[in-house]
Amino acid sequence: MVKGIVVWGAVLTALLVFTGSVFAKASKKATKGCYMGKYQGDKVVKTDAEWKKIMTPEQYEVLRGEGTERACSGLYWNNHKAGVYHCAGCGLELFVSATKFESGTGWPSFYQPIFPENVATRKDNSWGMDRVEAHCPRCGGHLGHVFEDGPKPTNLRYCINSASVTFVEDKGK
Ligand code: FE
Repeated sequence: MVKGIVVWGAVLTALLVFTGSVFAKASKKATKGCYMGKYQGDKVVKTDAEWKKIMTPEQYEVLRGEGTERACSGLYWNNHKAGVYHCAGCGLELFVSATKFESGTGWPSFYQPIFPENVATRKDNSWGMDRVEAHCPRCGGHLGHVFEDGPKPTNLRYCINSASVTFVEDKGK
């Protein structure tokens, strides 16, 4: 009798573990390619000293100082892996690899943000040029510029500094 209970207990446990793993796999599959990071309007505010503490000098120069890295010098201009590019300042999801294209400029280039809300723009007349600057709406970090010579369907080219983003590879693809 006791032996029977032990056997049934073991069978039941095995069944529960198996069912759990099937559900875990199913839920993972359901979220694959589904990015839930639409910007909700919250802000990340830090002092210069605080930003410096959590960034590399290159990230700080670009994100907080509106600097531009040298062409072909960054980590991601030639990155062809599938995944998501996040703001290196606050982690907000900015671009997906599916919208990255070969611009030939030496900077990571995308034809659209992950959601329209996730990349903010404003006019930039610095250096005697008439450009559109792109930044993170959550932390205000400078990302790059937007030009109107991109590919279809938007005809836009988000020219982004590698130093302003971190890439999270989608291992499920
Ligand atoms: Fe940010």
